[in-house]
Amino acid sequence: MSLNRRTFLRSSLFAAAGCMAPVQNGKVITVNGPVSPEKMGITLVHEHILVDFAGADRSFPGRYDRQQVIDHVLPHLRSLRSKGCRTLVDCTPNYLGRDVRLLQQLSAQSDLHIITNTGWYGAAKEKFIPSKIKQLSSEQIAAEWINEARKGIDGTGIRPGFMKIGVDDHPFSENIIKILEAAAITYKSTGLPIGVHTSNGGIPAMEEMKMLQSKNVPLSSWIWIHAQNEKDLSMQIEAAKKGAWISFDNISGDNLEENLERLKKMKASGLLGQVIISHDAGWYDVVDPSKKFRDYTTIFDQFIPYLKKNNFSTQDVEQLLVKNPARVFTVKS
Ligand SMILES: [Zn+2]
Repeated sequence: MSLNRRTFLRSSLFAAAGCMAPVQNGKVITVNGPVSPEKMGITLVHEHILVDFAGADRSFPGRYDRQQVIDHVLPHLRSLRSKGCRTLVDCTPNYLGRDVRLLQQLSAQSDLHIITNTGWYGAAKEKFIPSKIKQLSSEQIAAEWINEARKGIDGTGIRPGFMKIGVDDHPFSENIIKILEAAAITYKSTGLPIGVHTSNGGIPAMEEMKMLQSKNVPLSSWIWIHAQNEKDLSMQIEAAKKGAWISFDNISGDNLEENLERLKKMKASGLLGQVIISHDAGWYDVVDPSKKFRDYTTIFDQFIPYLKKNNFSTQDVEQLLVKNPARVFTVKS
């Protein structure tokens, strides 16, 4: 696709996106270094490039042929870029296939900003937490994450732009409490926002929120990931009113209507300014590379036109895909 056609597509979808003022003083940290928030453009806040489900103690970067992964993934990223998307947030955590060298290479080749993360993923029955957690305090865990944030990941100098942790349910186990505490400590030292994959709906999410508040983490730095898992929206509304980020990140051709309903309710409550959307799609599966890759384009090909048919304005769409992500991922510098 020619640059003009691309620019046209982007400007027709988001007329005002180019002249947006920076949300606050600060930067967004991509795998190729910090950029100004207004450079993020259209952003998908929750996708995956590669996932390795082997388990924490068996997964490491390079357990696969990087070139094979690039050949597999790059066409999907280029297709996303051709839709006008500028930034992709990769939500694959450490011990689940995070490979920042791969992300950096793909970012350069696709012309997409890519953001990676620090943190440990405690969901999926803690299969992806390294066993060393037993010997570590929350301060020691935080020290590892802060070190990644300051010096870069695995000696690469590539820094994370947010934290990604994971929780299944409440009551929290000892490990999950350590992880949440480590996130609060890391936040205080780095300002990185805390994305919490929350498997089982509103109750654990409310408990995360309470715990982070008790540690003086502002809720504007907490992302309730997979908020769609809680069907009744009253808790999302309560959290959003307190400044939290509500991530509806399962958008696919099969659930456009239910996601439209969610957005309608958030909009009716005046809370579209706290909502972010994405597909949770991808990915190169290290354990089963033949697994079908879910494309990152449904939001552009189907969901945006559907929203517009249902009285969402260009400004609403821009809020969800440009302004809100820029606010979430801007770290004060
Ligand atoms: Zn995900």
